[in-house]
Amino acid sequence: MSQQPWFDPTQCLIGGKWVPACTGETLPLINPSDGGEICRIARGAEPDIDAAVAAAQTALNGDWGRMTALERGRILTRLGQLVLEHVDDLAALEATDVGKPLTQARADAVALARYCEFYGGAADKVMGETIPYLDGYTVYTLREPHGVTGHIVPWNYPMQIIGRSVGAALAMGNACVLKPAEEACLTALAFAHLAVEAGLPDGALNVVPGLGAEAGATLSGHPGVNHISFTGSVATGALVQQAAGRNVVPVTLELGGKSPQLVFDDADLDAALPFLVNAGIQNAGQTCSASSRILVQRGVYDQVKSRMAEAYEQLSVGPAMQDLRVGPLISNRQKQIVSGFLTQGADLTIAAQGKIVEGAPDGGAYVQPTLFADVPPDHALARDEIFGPVQVLIPFETEKQALIMANSTDYGLVASVWSRDGARQMRLAKGLRSGQVFINNYGAGGGVELPFGGVGKSGHGREKGFEALYGFSQLKTVAAYHG
Ligand code: NAD
Repeated sequence: MSQQPWFDPTQCLIGGKWVPACTGETLPLINPSDGGEICRIARGAEPDIDAAVAAAQTALNGDWGRMTALERGRILTRLGQLVLEHVDDLAALEATDVGKPLTQARADAVALARYCEFYGGAADKVMGETIPYLDGYTVYTLREPHGVTGHIVPWNYPMQIIGRSVGAALAMGNACVLKPAEEACLTALAFAHLAVEAGLPDGALNVVPGLGAEAGATLSGHPGVNHISFTGSVATGALVQQAAGRNVVPVTLELGGKSPQLVFDDADLDAALPFLVNAGIQNAGQTCSASSRILVQRGVYDQVKSRMAEAYEQLSVGPAMQDLRVGPLISNRQKQIVSGFLTQGADLTIAAQGKIVEGAPDGGAYVQPTLFADVPPDHALARDEIFGPVQVLIPFETEKQALIMANSTDYGLVASVWSRDGARQMRLAKGLRSGQVFINNYGAGGGVELPFGGVGKSGHGREKGFEALYGFSQLKTVAAYHG
């Protein structure tokens, strides 16, 4: 069953008006649970992005640019309230569009509301500082918006990623142009409808769906854009950075990872087990901070392997609306990518697999969740981002060896340490090359308050928390000489 949108999905929001793409062209939006067409969306391209950037600039010169931080915060808070009132509708749209089991889609809608609340409350709490300086001077700093910000969003967590980037950018007074993914853009459009209802002035948020190579590439290289926030693949992130670089525009890149969990002999395994599995299979493993590498100390390795295998055997995969633990992948293209990795693992030991439920539609993008054991740390499955429900178990002997292994990929987004030894927790928190480190948990509930971003090929810049407000602003220093 597809949840049909309650708005016209073939339109873009530009300057407060809902309009079709300039060419009038549309693209099909596919339901990953059955392969059927849900509806059509606008195929926005260069002229639409030009119009959206111009509308954003007009907003900055008009009502939006003149608004106080308090007023911006109130609109965001109202928007958060509207999102909460529409949680079930948003969850059903996301489940249809992304293939996300309904409970997970609902959690994303609640998180979107929370981002609006958090940044609504934070908007008037961003302050500069005074700097003691030479005699006769008063020196202070101002935090100002970049201006027009571009937001290129992927398909895996549309609501959460829109919340964390657009929410923070609006709080700081930027005017946004949002390019959602061509595979999943219904909740971006729904969010824009709610933003209009919340009273966001025309042009403060513009949404242009379209293909990455058309609308996305135009936005990232647009001379009228002053900052780009991108979440997605390393290859596309590099293109976005290159395009923005030609205009000397700052970018925030969040490019996924190969995040490890380190399980030591002294770990509380009962506490760890649910996190070890869930962090790999949530959203069918299509999570930038998915934990796809489980490094386990030799003394508990067999026990962790058999307990994770038991959990995998209980996993059912099926249509999003059946609300099982695992839904389909986003597309049959993604299924091909993940199947390619499973083929590369043909020489490895499979510890366990989940099951695809009977009656799952043939056209759906289903793969069996798969747990590999005894994987050599230099194997492709232990180094590359798979973006599917696949985890590898790797044994280690010593803490030193575990740290070297954990830091041995090109990525560094999230890591966790399961151990009761406080000194070891501190050593590893310092030693792990990662944007976030969790001790005896994984993800800490995904709180909007926690700055998030990577090192190495996981990207650069930080979103979420208060830190994002600094990223979506620039610092001006004022030095006044008064004698
Ligand atoms: P992608 O990076 O190509 O797409 C992400 C976004 O970038 C989409 O909105 C897309 O339209 C846009 N885009 C594509 N080409 C562009 C271009 N030339 N210029 C500007 N924007 C462009 O990712 P994908 O092809 O959908 O997925 C491929 C792989 O990327 C996945 O298997 C996964 O490994 C990774 N991925 C990571 C994340 C993450 O959260 N870090 C999200 C999605 C995909």
